[in-house]
Amino acid sequence: MKDANFLKEHNARHLWHPMAHPADSLANPPDIIVEGEGVHITDVDGHRTVDGVGGLWNVNLGYSCQPVKDAIAAQLDRLPYYSIFRGTTNDNVIELAERLRDFFAPDGLTRAFYTSGGSDSVEIALRLARQYHKIRGEAGRVKYLSVKKGYHGTHTLGASVNGNANFRTQYEPLMPGCYHVPSPYTYRNPFGETDHEKLAQLCLSAIEDEIKFQDPSTIAAFIMEPVLGAGGVIPPHESFMPGVREICDKHGILLIADEVITAFGRTGDWSGSRHWGVKPDLMCTAKAITNGYFPFGAVMISEGVAEVFEQDTSGKGAIGSGYTYSGHPVGAAAAIACLAETERLNVKDNAAARGKQLFDGLNALKDKYDLIGDVRGGHGLMLALELVSDQGAKTPIDKKTIGAIHRATYEAGAMVRVSGNNIILSPPLVLPEADARTILSALDAGFASVG
Ligand code: PMP
Repeated sequence: MKDANFLKEHNARHLWHPMAHPADSLANPPDIIVEGEGVHITDVDGHRTVDGVGGLWNVNLGYSCQPVKDAIAAQLDRLPYYSIFRGTTNDNVIELAERLRDFFAPDGLTRAFYTSGGSDSVEIALRLARQYHKIRGEAGRVKYLSVKKGYHGTHTLGASVNGNANFRTQYEPLMPGCYHVPSPYTYRNPFGETDHEKLAQLCLSAIEDEIKFQDPSTIAAFIMEPVLGAGGVIPPHESFMPGVREICDKHGILLIADEVITAFGRTGDWSGSRHWGVKPDLMCTAKAITNGYFPFGAVMISEGVAEVFEQDTSGKGAIGSGYTYSGHPVGAAAAIACLAETERLNVKDNAAARGKQLFDGLNALKDKYDLIGDVRGGHGLMLALELVSDQGAKTPIDKKTIGAIHRATYEAGAMVRVSGNNIILSPPLVLPEADARTILSALDAGFASVG
């Protein structure tokens, strides 16, 4: 490896980072991560921290998951690539489809369509929703509804249903026919409602209202994250997702669960939909399906939706969508091994336990530091602190202060993620109790450094 100074200088000069301003990367050079072991990462200067981010919500099993590494190496040796477009397939995707079917059976999802990541899964699910209605003779159902503050990836369809202006404004005009409803975000909402359950009901009424306004027969699908992730970890009241399901059923609208973050144990259940007792029509997965070791994703399809495609005799059911890397044999091998480890280690239970530990710890920090306006979590290992400079006015904290907290937390032993005025935690689901304590003590040091 080149030396640290060479790497830092060349990173600044020659590459742009996703979700970052190029000028920012010059002013605040990123940490160069060179090693991962267990739940720890080490940077090029030899500084080792607990990874409170879990890669990017995806390294659920940590960095030393040997069965997944072995599966990747063995598959690279045997067959590094072949396409699964019409006419060819491979043994791994077949085995994986069986495993996924069993894994998601309680959610009513029995068919898999493979992708190369989360944005791809969202794109495919949205396309399949329109196609489903066309096959059934309802070609007018083309619109999509989604939740403000929701994140659904970077492709243009996903960005169009995305509920965060930061990811939209510079790329508008996006796809027409996408409409956004209020999110069940108690800390800030247009209703001024702080009660979780009442807010969920108000949001559900707003959805009904928007559907009537648009005309139900024009809407293809409602897409939502069971717990909003990148938008700042916003868990809805338990009545919200079942309420959305009921409204969708009433109006013949498909429900797409975007579980790119929440599938495979992160909420303390095997899927976010199951966490709320809901069966979606389509489910987007990616990220932890391979523990982040290989880019891969899958859209899971319910029996009811699948039948419409499979029984079509008009030709409209032919899937005109796919990626070169759909069903990549190495990704599928990684996913098979990853699912086996995910189940063997029963990571959802540790996610629930460590999630509670962190949630309690973050609430204790809130009592100590006025900069913490809101603590969100309580559903496995996805948590957030929303930082404000004024508790009453809820003024979002400035970039410099949150940046300083982030840096000091890192120096004190934990990598956490800054997103707007939120600090987000999404550590590996195999996080040991002692490392959860390290995350909390490092955050304590981070806040103390600016206090
Ligand atoms: N949907 C959700 C809910 C996500 O959180 C993300 C990524 N954070 C995506 C879609 C996009 O996934 P990817 O970055 O793998 O394209």
